[in-house]
Amino acid sequence: MAEYTPLPLILAAEQFARLPGIGMKTAQRLAYHILTMPSGEVEHFAGTLVSARESVRCCSVCQNFTEKETCVLCEDGADGKRNGTIICVVEAPRDVTAIERTGGFDGSYHVLHGLLSPMDGTGPEHIRMKELMARLSGDVGEVIMATNPTVEGEATASYICRLIKPMGIKVSRLAYGLPVGASLEFADDVTLVRAMENRNLI
Ligand code: ZN
Repeated sequence: MAEYTPLPLILAAEQFARLPGIGMKTAQRLAYHILTMPSGEVEHFAGTLVSARESVRCCSVCQNFTEKETCVLCEDGADGKRNGTIICVVEAPRDVTAIERTGGFDGSYHVLHGLLSPMDGTGPEHIRMKELMARLSGDVGEVIMATNPTVEGEATASYICRLIKPMGIKVSRLAYGLPVGASLEFADDVTLVRAMENRNLI
């Protein structure tokens, strides 16, 4: 921003630029837009963010975001409306949303809030591993590893698998393959290999 730009405007743009996926250009456009909004609307906007941060916490069971001590999905599990003996382990709350959107899974979840990444110094103590292990002393028949097929996702899945398997609990991994509607020739090598490995009998 130019040197004649008022400081508060620069500071506002800098705050927007801290958000993921927002570059400096977009951040500046958003900051300018804020100045065109009525004061009351800006207050409401800021207040909503503060209240979301303050009122949302992690479910004491699955670690997904909730406003209460335990989330709705875990309550449904306790009421027998969902299968609490199957735990689907994911990296982030957005993954729960993605799987729930399909309506094809009725087990419970466990949100790790991160993945193991020795390169970045992220170890088991930095993600919700302890909480996952604590749940396994209960009635659990299967753990589905649904972390993304990235280096960190694969490393996390195999680490957890090595810990859980000796406990006699079945561990499975989400099958990754070709996107529906895609052509073989456009699939990348890793996708094609995984699709071949995870082929199903028809
Ligand atoms: Zn929960």
